[in-house]
Amino acid sequence: MQNESKDGVARRDFIKTAVALVGATSALVTQGGAVNAQGTNATPAGGRQGTVYTGDVIQGKKVISALDVEDLERGKKHMFYFQGVQMPTGQHWYVSVIVVRGAKPGKRVALVSGVHGDEMSPVHTIQTVISQLDPAQMSGTVLAVLDVSRPALEAMERRWPNSGRGIDLIDINREWPGNENGASAPSRHAGLLFNGLLRPNADYAIDFHTGTTGMDLTSFNLARMELPEARAMAELYPITQIFDNPAYPTLLANAFINVGIPAITPEIGSARVFDLDMIPLFVEGTMNVLKRYNVVPGPMGRTGKDVGIFVGNSAHSILTTHGGFIELLVKLNEKVRVGQKVAIQRNAFGEVVAQYTSEVAGEVTGRRTDATAEPRIPVVMILYQSPARENPEDYSE
Ligand SMILES: [Zn+2]
Repeated sequence: MQNESKDGVARRDFIKTAVALVGATSALVTQGGAVNAQGTNATPAGGRQGTVYTGDVIQGKKVISALDVEDLERGKKHMFYFQGVQMPTGQHWYVSVIVVRGAKPGKRVALVSGVHGDEMSPVHTIQTVISQLDPAQMSGTVLAVLDVSRPALEAMERRWPNSGRGIDLIDINREWPGNENGASAPSRHAGLLFNGLLRPNADYAIDFHTGTTGMDLTSFNLARMELPEARAMAELYPITQIFDNPAYPTLLANAFINVGIPAITPEIGSARVFDLDMIPLFVEGTMNVLKRYNVVPGPMGRTGKDVGIFVGNSAHSILTTHGGFIELLVKLNEKVRVGQKVAIQRNAFGEVVAQYTSEVAGEVTGRRTDATAEPRIPVVMILYQSPARENPEDYSE
């Protein structure tokens, strides 16, 4: 009994010491900005944040809570888990990070997928780009972050199930650049990723998306064409459309742009699936971007010019006025004129309850895939050029 008691005391002391050490480490991280894998304070010169290894290894990958690609060996691919926001159990959401560090110095390009959890083609696009990169031939760095909104991905769901007061679903693409002390988990997660991973390691950024569940999209880039580098990147994709619009101020692309990092938002067709026809076009466009910034050598592939890309600065969402069954009369990429009928809606008896027409002339960019709709649901989205760029309504990037 006495020995056990002694052990108990000894153990408690050990735990206290361990807690104190963890506290000291945290203090070093906060004050010094960096603790390296050996646990020593290593604040680099020039105010760089430095890469912070937590000491954990998950499924063979080292865990980091801050990244500076300058710390990584050149001419190699590196893989990590980045420690994101803490869950109610005290565990963390980790996101998958690949850094392809070229043999020579150069520009840094960030490729992001999984901001929305039901958007799969972006993951495959980035994986394919990464597989085509040879770090020995590269000048600069490609940073890939594959699964930003982890709990949303686990559920194949657009939004993050925040559990503060029962579940609410939060769209993390309405939260950037986030806030590490924000009121919701996705806001804190966005802040951790933006400050510790994305912003410090990107000269240019591409945040890949698809349509949302229930809405099929064409291949297009959402890009602010008034910004020269965003425009240049958007035009390098051999895809069908460019939507020249900032959309919402809290998009990840806009958070990058607000800190001086040119960024665009490619949209790769439908949610939930790999679109193996569209993905190669986005791979080709992304490789073109890497060639533009001399990160990879070689001649440009096809671009928007080669395929007669259609540019519009506004999107007209045609919303249902009734509930009922929808028959669509137009296809993706179809040209429509003012007054053209685009959809018919019937009730269960087959009686027509509404007919929908376009108020603009343009090209179809989105189409509802579910055959039913309640009122106020977008059934057809038409890309068009307006004298004054219109803010999008009911647009799900
Ligand atoms: Zn999205």
